[in-house]
Amino acid sequence: MADIIQLLPDHVANQIAAGEVVQRPASVVKELLENAIDANASVIKLIIKDAGKTLVQVIDNGKGMSTTDARLSFERHATSKIRTADDLFHLNTKGFRGEALASIAAIAHVELKTKQENDEVGNSIVIEGSTIVSQEVVVTPKGTSISVKNLFFNIPARRNFLKSNTVELRHVFDEFHRVALAHPSISFAMYNNGSEAFNLPISNYRQRIVNIFGNKTNEKLVPVEEDTEVLKISGFVGKPEYAKKTRGEQYFFVNDRFIKSPYLNHAISSAFEGLLKSGNHPSYFLNLTVNPETIDINIHPTKTEIKFDDEHTLYALLRSAVKHSLGQFNIAPVLDFER
Ligand code: ADP
Ligand code: MG
Repeated sequence: MADIIQLLPDHVANQIAAGEVVQRPASVVKELLENAIDANASVIKLIIKDAGKTLVQVIDNGKGMSTTDARLSFERHATSKIRTADDLFHLNTKGFRGEALASIAAIAHVELKTKQENDEVGNSIVIEGSTIVSQEVVVTPKGTSISVKNLFFNIPARRNFLKSNTVELRHVFDEFHRVALAHPSISFAMYNNGSEAFNLPISNYRQRIVNIFGNKTNEKLVPVEEDTEVLKISGFVGKPEYAKKTRGEQYFFVNDRFIKSPYLNHAISSAFEGLLKSGNHPSYFLNLTVNPETIDINIHPTKTEIKFDDEHTLYALLRSAVKHSLGQFNIAPVLDFER
């Protein structure tokens, strides 16, 4: 009988992986911003054209890559962030799967420019559909610039599946907000079709929220602080009277990563019990810091879901911390919170 199983060529495997990592332009925005953060950048610039369908570019002043690393960065499972399976439980980087650049390069036209601090010159690589078109030495500032053009150029079905620019741009803004909120100590700028959409200086958390969502947000914010052996909670919840019908500004971060957790989001919402008009949703900007050994982030390729060792304790602590802050707010004059 004939053997029929074959190993897929790399470019096919990359395209399959890309289907999981890259759903839309906003996915590229997330992956590139996270790489810039992992490179210890202090200034990050995001440039978008046509809601990211034509161009997503991220420029950082981080540590850059060597000539060999620049090439390797586009290989699948190539990462500088973990070495052993054990490292998965001591993560202090956003990335670790070594999949994003390989996936993105499989389905777009990508240009990388990168230079390390002590190198005279840097490297430029053009890669299209997993094929390296050119690699040359270039003069470029310290850091990395990656532009991703014509997303899904070789998968027409996926390209056609993209939503209108208005919808895709909303997803791009969502990702930008999430990353910028998690990192107030990094300066971010965003340009949309040539005009400046955001310019966020290094600031504290309250100021970052206000810079993104507008000055009016300031008076809405009630601080939440809790420090126990198992976790640290910090951030703000919106005063109940500002709650809206739409589930808008609900941000929950674990170790500086935006996380979707219906269970823990419920812990937060339920702390508002009796304070909201029915059908209204509270806003919150909450950061949970836990020991990385007590979570597993390797559940989904986009890393927006997490498995906690002890979710029930977290639920209780989170709910009581928010309740406590709201309680203080209810008895204290509003002005007390603006100091
Ligand atoms: P991961 O982030 O999971 O390691 P990626 O495919 O996103 O995988 O990136 C592969 C590697 O390329 C990273 O591990 C890192 O070493 C390097 N890299 C990617 N982006 C940057 C950047 N902006 N600055 C410096 N190095 C980068
Ligand atoms: Mg990455």
